[in-house]
Amino acid sequence: MISVEKAHRIIQSATPDPLSEKVQIKEASGRVLARDVFTPFAQPRFDNSAMDGFAVQWEDTVGASQESPVELTLKGTISAGVEPEFAIKKGECCQIMTGAPVPGGANAIIIVENTSGFSSNNLVQIFEPAVLHNHIRFQGEEIQEGELLLKKGTQIGPSELNILVAFGYGEVPVYQRLKMAIFTTGDELIEPGNPLKVGQIYNSNLHLLTDLAKRVGAQILFHRVIRDDPESMRELLSRALDSCDIVVTSGGVSKGKYDYVREVFSELGVKEHFRRVAQKPGKPFLFGTKGETLIFGLPGNPVSSFICFMEFIWLTCEHWMGLKPLCKVKAILKSNFPNKPDKHCFLFGRLSYENNRLMAIPTEKYGSHMVTSAVDANCILESPPGSSPIQKGDTILANPFPWMNLGRFMS
Ligand code: AMP
Ligand code: MG
Repeated sequence: MISVEKAHRIIQSATPDPLSEKVQIKEASGRVLARDVFTPFAQPRFDNSAMDGFAVQWEDTVGASQESPVELTLKGTISAGVEPEFAIKKGECCQIMTGAPVPGGANAIIIVENTSGFSSNNLVQIFEPAVLHNHIRFQGEEIQEGELLLKKGTQIGPSELNILVAFGYGEVPVYQRLKMAIFTTGDELIEPGNPLKVGQIYNSNLHLLTDLAKRVGAQILFHRVIRDDPESMRELLSRALDSCDIVVTSGGVSKGKYDYVREVFSELGVKEHFRRVAQKPGKPFLFGTKGETLIFGLPGNPVSSFICFMEFIWLTCEHWMGLKPLCKVKAILKSNFPNKPDKHCFLFGRLSYENNRLMAIPTEKYGSHMVTSAVDANCILESPPGSSPIQKGDTILANPFPWMNLGRFMS
């Protein structure tokens, strides 16, 4: 049996470096940038108007008021997307719309509300003096050409998508998605919606693990149940090992009479690195490799599967897909945490902000078969092996569910 830390080290040293590819921007949401992206041009690209109004020479408008407006000769109109074909000279102005390029000669914009308006012909009355450079967005004032825009390793969300498109990126370099296989094993497993016979249970792990794999951004090539039969197990696992980066199984890795997973992996040439970890839940936990494919044999109990996925597989996927690992946080316990001298202990828990302090309550349901211990949970709480009790008021390490927004911790 090995420690959780050692298990992490072994998995990490077996995890290959991420590979990159180019994808169309339409496919880029959720992907991770595989290199730094720089600005191909300055932003704004050209001096343009921030308001609908008139481009003027501010010197012409000195002293303008409602009572004694200044009159300027209308030179024309510039709308957004159109290149000006004239310059403004002394005594002249032109209509200009938001985002339209500022014509040569103009050095200020007067907003339309302070003029006789867009219906004025030939002569436009100006009711307020212009201020030099007012309402002009100058070329490069936001960012210069060649500046670092987004760093390698950034996950592309709505802001990044927006930024990339604003700078014209039609395709982007991203890390490849992992190809994953999810298998649950057991003759007792039934799909939801069907009646259960005595002894049968619903195949919750299949749906749980598939959802987690999707959320971490993996591409799921297989997700199905395998019966406790070495023949069909061999056939499916062999196909998965040939085509996937990560093969995950649940169940069948303990010492039961029908626990064939280890045996079949071994027949298929999988090198076993460990099969038992000093943790609760999740002690029977197999990790192996075949070439560059990683194999995780999770225990069948639903809480064990969930926690092992989050603590080991999620982290591996982040690493392999070029993401920075999520940080764990420290919180103050609102009730005692049942640690063990010889095992790393994990429990579902609930984090909440109270008086600006992050507090944590562990579930009171300790069994690894108790799927309802995750009701209301928003994190996994953990304690390394240790003999002194961890009590209310002590700090505890929490791994917030990555799909939980901090705002939800408030209530
Ligand atoms: P095993 O590791 O195969 O001995 O399974 C351990 C326990 O987890 C047994 O009580 C199984 O019935 C249960 N279990 C196994 N697979 C699943 C699954 N896919 N969904 C829910 N429970 C499961
Ligand atoms: Mg089983």
